[in-house]
Amino acid sequence: HMTQRIAVIPGDGIGTEVMPEGLRVLEAAATRFGLDLDFESFDWGCGHYLREGRMMPADWKERIGGHDAILFGAVGAPDRVPDHIAIWDSIITIRREFDQYVNLRPARLMPGVPSPLANRRPGDIDFLVVRENTEGEYSSLGGRMFPGTEREFVIQESVFTRTGVDRVLRFAFELAARRPGRHLTAATKSNGISITMPYWDERLQAIAGEYPEVAWDKFHIDILCAHLVQHPDRFDVIVASNLFGDILSDLDPACTGTIGIAPSANLNPERRYPSLFEPVHGSAPDIAGRGIANPVGQIWSAALMLQHLGRDVSVWQDAADAVLRAIEAVLAEGPRTPDMGGTARTADMGRAIASHVAQAR
Ligand code: NAD
Ligand code: MN
Repeated sequence: HMTQRIAVIPGDGIGTEVMPEGLRVLEAAATRFGLDLDFESFDWGCGHYLREGRMMPADWKERIGGHDAILFGAVGAPDRVPDHIAIWDSIITIRREFDQYVNLRPARLMPGVPSPLANRRPGDIDFLVVRENTEGEYSSLGGRMFPGTEREFVIQESVFTRTGVDRVLRFAFELAARRPGRHLTAATKSNGISITMPYWDERLQAIAGEYPEVAWDKFHIDILCAHLVQHPDRFDVIVASNLFGDILSDLDPACTGTIGIAPSANLNPERRYPSLFEPVHGSAPDIAGRGIANPVGQIWSAALMLQHLGRDVSVWQDAADAVLRAIEAVLAEGPRTPDMGGTARTADMGRAIASHVAQAR
C-alpha cells in the first residue's frame, strides 16, 4: 500500500478559497479509487510574513522536504507585502531549492470555455509547454555600473549549462514519445541571440538523435507566438528556455479561455525532491474574499499531481483521468463561476466536480 504524503500550502487571497476545492476533489478520488493520501497543511504566505518577517519558516526545507508532493495555492498581498518578496521568498525559492527544473503547463481547449480564437472547438487545441525552470535568462549574474551617472549601464548574463539544457530537452522528448502525436517543437532565437541560442539548437539536435520516433521542428520565439495564435492545432509538446517558456505559458491560457482553469506542475523528475503543483493564476486580490474564484486551475493541478505520484500505476492514472473527465463535464454543463459567465460560487463548482469523480466508472 502506497501512502503519499502531501504538503498543502494554500497561501493568500483566492489561494485559500480554491485549495479546499482541490482537497475535496482529491478526497473524492481517494475514496473512489482506494488511494492513500495524507495531507499536512502549512499556513505560509503573506500572513506569515506580517507576523514573523518571512514568508516561510527558516526550517521550511526540513518541514516539507520529506513529503511526496506539494500542492500550492497562490501567494501575494500586493497592498501589504512587496510582490518580489512574496514571490521570491516562497514559490521561487521552493522551485530552485527543490531543483524543479521542468515547469509543465498543459493547454487544452475545454468544452464550455469559449476561445478568443475564431472557429476553434474543444479538441482542436491540446498541447503542453515544457519550460526550463532553473537557469537560462533568469540568472542573477550581472550588475549596474556607475549608477546615476551618464556612464551608467546594466548587464545581466544568461546561463545555459549542458546538464541543464540536456535534461529539460530529454524530458520534453520523453513526454512527446509517450503522446499519440509524437511531435516536439522547440522555441529558439538563434538568429538574434548568437551564442546561447545556437548552443540550445546544437543540444536540441543532439538529444533529438536519441528519439528517432519523435518528429520535431523549431521556430524562433517571435514567429512561434504568431503560429500559436494562427494554428494552435499544429502543436503537441513545446519546449523552451526559461524566458521563452514564461512567455509561451501565459499565451496558452489566453488562447484557451480563462486563466482561472490553467494548471501547472513544477517537476523534479528524478524525485530527489518533492514536485510542486499549482494553478497558473495568482491570489487575485480583486475578487478575494467573495467565494467566486474558479477552482478548476487548482483542481486540474491536483490531477497533474495524481499523474506524477502514481508513476505508471494504473489506478492512480485512472483517478487522474476521472478528475479530468469530471472537470470537462462541469465546464460543459455547469455550474460555472462568474469568470465563465455563470453565477455559481467556488464551492458549488468544486462540489459538482467532486460528485462526478465519486461516480466515475
Ligand atoms: P492574478 O492571476 O491573481 O489575477 C489576474 C486576473 O485574473 C484578476 O482579474 C483575477 O480576478 C482573475 N483571476 C485569477 N484567477 C482567477 C480565478 N481562479 N477565478 C476567477 N478569476 C481569476 O494575477 P495578478 O492580479 O497579476 O496578481 C495578484 C497577486 O498574485 C500578486 O501579488 C502577484 O504577485 C501574485 N501572483 C502569484 C502567483 C503565484 O503564487 N504563483 C502567480 C501570479 C501572481
Ligand atoms: Mn509568467
